[in-house]
Amino acid sequence: MKQSFYDLTYADLATVVSEHNFNSAVAATLFNWYYKKKQSTPCHSKISRHAAAFFEQHYDFSLPEIDTVYESKKDRAVKFLFKLKDGHKVETVLIPFNNKYSICLSSQVGCAMNCSFCYTGEQGLKRNLATSEIVGQFLQAWRWLASNRPGEERILNIVFMGQGEPLHNFDAVKTACEIFLSQHGASVGVQKITISTAGYIPGLKRWSQEIPGVNLALSLHSPVTEKRSELIPINQKYPLHEVLTYIESIPLGKKQFVTYEYILIAGFNDSPEDAKQLGTMLAGKRAYINLIPFNTFPGSRYATPDRDSVEKFKEILDAFKIPTLIRGTKGDDVLAACGQLNSTNQTIFQAQ
Ligand code: SAH
Repeated sequence: MKQSFYDLTYADLATVVSEHNFNSAVAATLFNWYYKKKQSTPCHSKISRHAAAFFEQHYDFSLPEIDTVYESKKDRAVKFLFKLKDGHKVETVLIPFNNKYSICLSSQVGCAMNCSFCYTGEQGLKRNLATSEIVGQFLQAWRWLASNRPGEERILNIVFMGQGEPLHNFDAVKTACEIFLSQHGASVGVQKITISTAGYIPGLKRWSQEIPGVNLALSLHSPVTEKRSELIPINQKYPLHEVLTYIESIPLGKKQFVTYEYILIAGFNDSPEDAKQLGTMLAGKRAYINLIPFNTFPGSRYATPDRDSVEKFKEILDAFKIPTLIRGTKGDDVLAACGQLNSTNQTIFQAQ
């Protein structure tokens, strides 16, 4: 089987080019063609016929196939269901803001974390995604925008908050980040990429050493050990206080900050007492808090809090002078919101 072109970093490609004695500009030309211009046709014009034939013969340029597109009727969110070569499926979401988009990428088919509030966890882990399958989600979503919403193909932020635990698939995620960042290609700013984790410490260590400029988001969800362990089983192995101590030991870049995500679940972790404990835990740190009212999904065991208790929770955090944002629930009518991704159950949409 041919290797996917979209698994290669710029450095990998430059090595292939030099090993085969092609003109050294070929690597930049190809990265520019596929990642900056985001072309889907073979690149012939600016490279020698010999080089073009070589790449066509040895590399696979196909991308994950778009199986189904779900467009929100409420906002401009779009959810893509991708079909991978082995038949597995993953989801990707475009989240709109002012005619621009953030893209929420999946890093695994399913997830091994088994968080009690998350629809993806119910699938279990099927397998890791390859770099090309991660990069492919981005390129396909961009191309879909270019053909379906021309002029709107502006994806400004990349967040690894789709299916999977990105730090469990570190190598592929890191290589995908290197491809996004390459100035010869998509040239995404390092501060525009965020990796979200449930708190997998071995992966955090690699993140801080190998892709330190990329932003980090930690799914915190409760400052109380028993409650966090109920929500995120990995808390038993890597307890929150160890995760926070580790994160704090990492020198952050000038514009860099850590986002703490906090799902608000009615009657479980949304009391004023929870807010005070969270505030005490994070006060004085270079932190942002994203409050995410729990999104329901078929069979979910938790409930969404009312707007008042969400506002009240935020007010308490404001008093600790921690910047806090209440995250909207874009795309929830097509199960595209946080925690609603589950590529094995699309029945709800087919019924609509
Ligand atoms: N495994 C990583 C990446 C998945 S991120 C992580 O745990 O961070 C998915 C984000 O959506 C996380 O902040 C997660 O906590 C949040 N989320 C999951 N299920 C949710 C639900 N039902 N309602 C709201 N947010 C949810």
